Amino acid sequence: MSKPLLFAANWKMHLHPGEAGTFLDRFLTLDVPRSGRTVVFFPPAVSLQTVAARLEGHDHLLVGAQDVHWESAGAFTGATSVPLARGAGASAALVGHSERRHLFGETDQETAQKVAAVLGGGLQAMLCVGETLDQREAGTTVAVVERQLAAALTGVAPQADLVVAYEPVWAIGTGRNATPEDANAVHRSIRELLVGLGLPRSTRILYGGSVKPENVAALVEQPEVDGVLVGGASLDPASWATICATMAGVPGD
Ligand code: PEP
Repeated sequence: MSKPLLFAANWKMHLHPGEAGTFLDRFLTLDVPRSGRTVVFFPPAVSLQTVAARLEGHDHLLVGAQDVHWESAGAFTGATSVPLARGAGASAALVGHSERRHLFGETDQETAQKVAAVLGGGLQAMLCVGETLDQREAGTTVAVVERQLAAALTGVAPQADLVVAYEPVWAIGTGRNATPEDANAVHRSIRELLVGLGLPRSTRILYGGSVKPENVAALVEQPEVDGVLVGGASLDPASWATICATMAGVPGD
């Protein structure tokens, strides 16, 4: 038996609507749908509607926003609210991606406000957490993700539509990634922390950071890894289709 897996593509600041349409035309010829697998695309905001329209009728191929503002409307030039993202076809939103935290100065408190807005607005929240290289070398990985999880998820209801993505900052876009065993160990800690926050043990936890067709299988074989969040390798339809075709056994089978 294969375990259900979630594959998430973070396109970052790439693929305008025309390019996104061309990507999906190619991807859909390569993709082999199967039960128990979900794929979520996080295109830039300008391409949300195009991607949503192209994926209509393809169950388990979903689209989400890369970031949202916590206010639902107003004078926030350049920002995308949850209702705007929903109106463009999004069913999920990334929150707290390390590029938002480290390049745009997003605070734990703002991440928490965004999680609340996403869940309150009826979207799935994909919360990203992860340590920097300095923090890893100082041995504070678990303390860092504990702080990020507690800040963002305290008070979130157990039935909330939540996914957590563990993305060590030093592994994003660098070609370096955590060993599958290291990723699994941090995922195990995250699962215990989620349970301590009153959230279900079954909450899906994705790994992200330089995932490629060559390393994805070993990562998703880990018992605590429920899927992957992919940046660079999700920008090529063939490499993304290969990643999305990966299967893994159910632990204990
Ligand atoms: C990401 O942006 O979330 C990411 C994991 O990027 P990459 O796969 O390029 O490391």
